[in-house]
Amino acid sequence: MKLGIIGGGGAAVALLAALTCDRLPDLDVTVFEPAKNVGPGRAYLPDSDIALLNVSAERMSVLSDSPGHFLQWVKERGGLNGGPVSPAAFLPRRLFGEYLAAVAAEITDRLAGRGKSVRTVRSPVIRLRQGPAGFHALTEDGRRFDGLDRVVLCVGTGGPVDVYRLARSPGYINDSYPLSAQLAAVPRKAHVLVLGTGLTAVDTVLFLLENSHRGGITMASRNGLLPTVRTSATAPELRHLSHAAVRAALAADPVMTGERLLALLDRELREAGMDLNRACAEAVPGESVARRLRRQLQQARDGGALWQPVIIEAMHESIELIWHAMPDAERRRFLTRWHRKFVSLLSPMPQRTAIRLQAASDAGQLRVVRGVRGIRPGEFPLPAFLASTGAGDIAADIVVNTTRPAAAAIPEAAIPLVEGLVKTGVARRHPLGGVDVARYTNRVLAADGSENRNLFALGHLTAGTHYYTSSMLIIGRQARIVADQLLRHC
Ligand SMILES: Cc1cc2nc3c(=O)[nH]c(=O)nc-3n(C[C@H](O)[C@H](O)[C@H](O)COP(=O)(O)OP(=O)(O)OC[C@H]3O[C@@H](n4cnc5c(N)ncnc54)[C@H](O)[C@@H]3O)c2cc1C
Repeated sequence: MKLGIIGGGGAAVALLAALTCDRLPDLDVTVFEPAKNVGPGRAYLPDSDIALLNVSAERMSVLSDSPGHFLQWVKERGGLNGGPVSPAAFLPRRLFGEYLAAVAAEITDRLAGRGKSVRTVRSPVIRLRQGPAGFHALTEDGRRFDGLDRVVLCVGTGGPVDVYRLARSPGYINDSYPLSAQLAAVPRKAHVLVLGTGLTAVDTVLFLLENSHRGGITMASRNGLLPTVRTSATAPELRHLSHAAVRAALAADPVMTGERLLALLDRELREAGMDLNRACAEAVPGESVARRLRRQLQQARDGGALWQPVIIEAMHESIELIWHAMPDAERRRFLTRWHRKFVSLLSPMPQRTAIRLQAASDAGQLRVVRGVRGIRPGEFPLPAFLASTGAGDIAADIVVNTTRPAAAAIPEAAIPLVEGLVKTGVARRHPLGGVDVARYTNRVLAADGSENRNLFALGHLTAGTHYYTSSMLIIGRQARIVADQLLRHC
């Protein structure tokens, strides 16, 4: 079988790993990936060691049924920078990128030993057509690849969105990853305005502080909410939101609503001696950043904030079941009312990072504001930018953009490809973003709703159908499902 994989990040490697973990199939693979290496994708590029994974080493793996695979690889190559590694450690993201590249290289070698190949084409696919002799892919550099029997779309996420159209302004940095390259030229005394207050914004600030930045730093977003601080507590066994419990609940009543989900979450938290209101109080804007960080650090050290591992665990166990049981109108309501709060509770920052941010805040170097209304280039010679916010006008020399693209937004490099597929009726857009895929197979749905047995999508592009795809654990699960279908044809 000739398999085309479009995109060569974590999802592509998870698929290759799932295809080859039990036996070496009769398979010729072409991976289309414009970046230098297959593996790191956008999330795990070579970068400073301060950019950490948000999942512990023992649970980051490309193989969904072998969660310790990454940890084992790290140990075999001598730990982190020669030191031992705890399974519970949150390791640098670049290390996971090296692991992905190593897994891809190892699979390529094994297939080559069998006379099969994994070929990499370093150009984005801009058009994909399906005909009687399979798929034809056209790449940006004008090459054509014919006769692909099956294709999997793994195009991932896009970079931040240039909301204020500042791309041409000197001093504007539209994407802060990789930190070590993008932020290297920021003058130490510059006043830096970081757009966004999520994990990427936190990484950005931490990188500046660790590199002896002396100027002021302002973080600004609509709600001004930093991620919460990661607790040292672990999740108790789930009773209401485990996969089995949610299945049973849905067997009794198949329709899930936002309120029902919150009620289940509340019951789960009460089992652990907490309640949902206390969790949600951590995602209410308005409190001073120093006070919030101090309280959350205390809670995190004491093993409090149990709601955090409960929500994270429940999300990984049952979100697909829950999302699929929600009617469309309910999903929209969830995205408008709860999605942002959920994401902010789901993605905590390490305690060490919180301590650094708190020190900078206490020293008056860091502040967090909310209600950004607009940013305009300033008058010559200084300041370079003027931002109007809920806390008044803020002058900044440098603006770093860390705002997230909308849920299920299609990455820029894949827009011509996806638009072409939609135009020819081979795919259709999902009303909530990305492309529409079948719930249990990830087969791409054609304009008339029929399942394409030869075209699949993995990861972020399927977020309209599956909601939460920002996790290697979930991407690995999807990869297994797609690989099982492909293997039936090998
Ligand atoms: C900054 C960041 C940090 C993250 N950290 C974690 C974490 O710690 N733990 C975790 O579990 N999850 C994390 N995630 C979520 C998720 O695991 C990653 O996004 C994951 O790497 C997604 O892999 P992917 O292959 O789907 O996408 P990507 O990594 O985005 O890779 C997609 C690839 O497709 C290529 N591409 C795009 N369009 C085309 C085209 N037309 N033709 C050919 N190639 C194309 C791109 O060049 C890119 O390399 C993180 C995500 C981000 C963005």
